[in-house]
Amino acid sequence: MPLTGIEIFKLLPKTNCGECGVPTCLAFAMSLAAGKAELAACPYVTDESKAKLEEASAPPIRPVIIGSGDKAVKVGGETVMFRHEKRFENPPGLAILISDTMAYAEVNSRLERFGSLQYDRVGLTLHPELVAAKCESNDAGKFKELVTKIKHSSDANIILMSENPDLLAAALEVCGDSKPLLYTATSDNIDKLAALAKEKSCPIAVKADSLEELAGLTTKLEQAGIKDMVIDSGARKLSQAFEDQIVIRRAALDKKFRPLGYPTIILANEMTDNPMKEALIAAIFIAKYGGIIVLSDFQGESLFPLLVLRMNIFTDPQRPLATTEGIYQIGGPDENSPVLLTSNFSLTYFIVSGEMENSRVPGYLLVKDTEGLSVMTAWAAGKFGADTIAPFIKKSGIADEVKHRKLIIPGYIAIESGSLEEELPGWEILVGPREGAHIPAYLKTWKV
Ligand code: SF4
Repeated sequence: MPLTGIEIFKLLPKTNCGECGVPTCLAFAMSLAAGKAELAACPYVTDESKAKLEEASAPPIRPVIIGSGDKAVKVGGETVMFRHEKRFENPPGLAILISDTMAYAEVNSRLERFGSLQYDRVGLTLHPELVAAKCESNDAGKFKELVTKIKHSSDANIILMSENPDLLAAALEVCGDSKPLLYTATSDNIDKLAALAKEKSCPIAVKADSLEELAGLTTKLEQAGIKDMVIDSGARKLSQAFEDQIVIRRAALDKKFRPLGYPTIILANEMTDNPMKEALIAAIFIAKYGGIIVLSDFQGESLFPLLVLRMNIFTDPQRPLATTEGIYQIGGPDENSPVLLTSNFSLTYFIVSGEMENSRVPGYLLVKDTEGLSVMTAWAAGKFGADTIAPFIKKSGIADEVKHRKLIIPGYIAIESGSLEEELPGWEILVGPREGAHIPAYLKTWKV
């Protein structure tokens, strides 16, 4: 349960020194309770109070980091059941399975796909993050060889998959510094795996046949001093796995049941042999509530839609993806080049700028801040009419870049052309295409 301002106040020094930026400890406590201040701003909180406050403010699903360095993936940390309540925090990590019984050529080709299947979209690079290295040979040498290959041929974060602590220990000799996820602890091996995870400071996955058993195992690990866990309900039937995800999330958020307050791992590869069905299963658990999703393989036609789905679900619904307002030069324009106007919704910007590039006609793209709304939505909201566009054009500096005075506006706001000519004396307003795809043909007709 989050603490109230008064409860927080009781844990503060009550000296009212003001060093936290507000005059009193009570005011600081109220700001903390409202999420408007950071505890670190008070240098005088005791360690004991700090621990209590951090515990009370920890997200109900613990954030867990797998890997090390810049490419490490953070999962969990969720605070809401539904995206519209606030936002989802950390997108699920996507993993490709590689077994130590696979032929070298297959291992190489999977690692090649892991590295090359990356996509630029709305200014972001979408890519998977994890390789699940599975020991099926039962041979420590082969497992180490596979993990060494993964470590040296990719920047993947690694999941080590074996229930045999000795095999995991062998693999950790070559990748322990990469802080892989150890999959998996069960009731049979939990003591040995706990010792290994503690020794190497690695996160650990826990698997059980029921949620009750799972809660018992995480409690045991917690008591052993292990905090970074990922949980597997053991279900491999879609309906049961789906139900488990909902129950786990509800238990952690609504009931504050800490033993299930960890990100989950979904083994989509064990739920079906059909690649299309596997992609659909992965899509379901991207939406509800997978922390890590393991796929039997990566193929562009299924991975790309999953990455886009993940991006869409894990963007902040209160903040559309937006591009910075300003003048963008496309293809080295000069003083005679066309000037196009659009909104700063990122998808719109990337479509329009991409089509301008495709046209091979150099030009200027004026991107107006519409608070991330698309052209029609911004226009309907009163943020993309002549009254706001005209001041933007005047202050943008585009008049210093070109010697003509022609402005191409999106076809969807053709209705604004008359008002714009009144607001921008000396400018000729041209109505461009409605659809980005028609921009290349339109620009081919450009004349100053
Ligand atoms: Fe109180 Fe700490 Fe702020 Fe000083 S810095 S007023 S002790 S909360």
